[in-house]
Amino acid sequence: MDHPSQPANIARDALKWLTQRKLPPTPDNYRRAYAAVSGEEEGAAPWPEAIRTLLSQWDVRHVGLPQAKKREMVERVLINFGNNPSELHEKVSALARSWADTQASRKVMEGEGSLPASEGEEPEEAGAAEAAAGGEQVTDELAQAMVDSIKVFASGCAALWPDLAKRAEVLAQEVASTRLTRADRHIGELGRLWREFIIRAEDNVELLDGLRRVVALLFRNVGDMFADDPWIRRQIETVHAMVGNNLNYHGIFDAERTLEEVVNRQKALQTSLREAKTRLKGLISTFVDRVGELTETTGEQHERILVYADKIAAAEDLGELNEVMEGLTSEMGRMRDQMRETHVELIGARQHVEQAEGRIRELESELQEAANLVREDQLTSALNRRGMEEAMERELARCDRMAAPLSLALLDIDHFKKINDSYGHQAGDQALIHLSKVTKHLLRPTDSLGRWGGEEFLIMLPNTDLAEAERVMQRLQRELTKTFFLHDNQRILITFSAGVTERQADEERDVWISRADKAMYRAKAMGRNRVERG
Ligand code: GH3
Ligand code: MG
Ligand code: MG
Repeated sequence: MDHPSQPANIARDALKWLTQRKLPPTPDNYRRAYAAVSGEEEGAAPWPEAIRTLLSQWDVRHVGLPQAKKREMVERVLINFGNNPSELHEKVSALARSWADTQASRKVMEGEGSLPASEGEEPEEAGAAEAAAGGEQVTDELAQAMVDSIKVFASGCAALWPDLAKRAEVLAQEVASTRLTRADRHIGELGRLWREFIIRAEDNVELLDGLRRVVALLFRNVGDMFADDPWIRRQIETVHAMVGNNLNYHGIFDAERTLEEVVNRQKALQTSLREAKTRLKGLISTFVDRVGELTETTGEQHERILVYADKIAAAEDLGELNEVMEGLTSEMGRMRDQMRETHVELIGARQHVEQAEGRIRELESELQEAANLVREDQLTSALNRRGMEEAMERELARCDRMAAPLSLALLDIDHFKKINDSYGHQAGDQALIHLSKVTKHLLRPTDSLGRWGGEEFLIMLPNTDLAEAERVMQRLQRELTKTFFLHDNQRILITFSAGVTERQADEERDVWISRADKAMYRAKAMGRNRVERG
C-alpha cells in the first residue's frame, strides 16, 4: 500500500481505498481509509469498532457457522496477518462483517486479496458493509444489555452476599464506561462472579432447607397456640403449606404478606386480650369485694373468696383466669344457693317473728286490759290486792269528806300450813274459799273483804268504829266455829288471829294497814285465835 505524504494525495487515495472496498463514504469509514492510506496511527483508532463488530457477530447465530468455526476463522486471520496491524485490522473487520454472509467469510479467511472484491460478490460485499455499519449499534445494545444483566445480578446478591454485589456493580460500571472494548477482561470477571454465586448458592441449598424445616416447625407450634382463633389458624396453615412446598419467589412473597397480617392481627388480639383481662380482673375484684362484704359474717366462705382474689391477682393468662373463674363460679353457685336458702329462711323467720311479736303485743295488751279489769281474787272471789287498794282509796276519800269512822281488820289464818300439810293444797284452797264465804255472809254490803296475801285477809268496815270492828271480828270467829269447814266429810276448824284499827284523821293508808298488821302479830304472839286492837 502506498503512503503518500501529501494530504491531497492521501485524501484522494483514501477515496480510492473506499471505492475499492465499495464502502460508503461515511465519516468513520473515511477516517479509517485516511488512516490506512496515510499510515498514521495505523489500525489504532478503528480497533474498538472492529472488536465490537467481531463480538456482536460472535454471539449472533449464523446458519452453518458455529462458534467453533468462527474461532478457527479468527485464528487463521491472526496467523496470516498477525504481523501487520493494519492488515490485521482490515481482515478482522472484514471477517466480522462477512459472518453475516458465510460465503464471503471464507475468502477473507484464506487471504484471497485483502478484500472480497470480485465483481460477482458485490452484493455480499455491500451486505457485509451494512452489517459493519449496524454493528456499532448492536455493540452498544449488547453492552447495555450486559450492564443491565450485571446490575440484576448485583441486586440479587445484595441481601445474602454484599461482597459479590459490590464486585458486580464495579463490573457494570466498567462495562458501561468502556463499552465492550475490554470485553475479555469483563467477561472473565463476570464468569468468576457467576461461579462464586453458584458455589455459594449450592452451599445455601442445605442451609435453606434447614431453615425451611425450622420455619415449618415454628408455624406448626404457633398454629397450636392460636387454635382458638380460626382466622389466625387459617393464615398460619396457609403459610405452613407455602413453606412446606418447594419455595419460589411468589411463594415467599405471599408468605411474607400473610405473616405480616398474622403479626398485625396477633398484636391487635393481644392488646384487646390484655384490656379484656384487665377489665375482667377489675370486675371480678369488685365482685369479690362485694361478696366479701356480704360474707364477712360467714368467716369460712370469706376466707375462700379471698383465696380466689389472690389467684386472680396472680393470674398470668386466660387459662389460669378461666380456672379461677370456674372455681369462683361454682363457689358463688354454692354461696348463692346457701344465700337463697338463708334468705328464704330469714324471710320466713322474720315473718314468723313479726307475727309472733304482733301476737305477743296483742296478748300483752289483752292481758293488760284483763289485769286492769280484774279486781277479784279468782280463788275466793274476795277483792284482790288491786281491788282492795282501790276500794280503800274510795273509802278513805269518803271518810275524809264525811268525817265518818273507818275501821280495818287484818286477819291471818292460824297454822294454815298444817292444813295444807295435813289435807293437801286443795283442801287449803277450799279452806280459803270457806273462810271467804263465811266472812262475806257475815259482813254488811258496804263492808269490803280483800285477799291481801296467801292466807291473809283485809276487812274494811265503813262507818264502823274500833269497838264495833272488834265485835264484828269476834262474831266472825264464832261463826267459823259454828260453820265447819268440811273436807272429805271431816270437820276442820279454821281459826284466825286479827288486828283491828280505826283510821285516824288524815292517816296514810299504809300507816293505817301497818298498825293493823302489828296488832295481828300481837294476837298471834298472844296465842292466836284472838283479835287485838291496833
Ligand atoms: P301462823 O299461825 O303463824 O300464821 O301459821 P301459818 O301456818 O298460817 O303460817 P305461815 O304463814 O307460815 O303459812 C301460811 C301458809 O299458807 C303457807 C302457804 O303454803 C299457805 N298458803 C298461802 N296461800 C295459799 C293458797 O292460796 N292456797 C293454799 N292451799 N295454801 C296457801
Ligand atoms: Mg300468814
Ligand atoms: Mg297464818
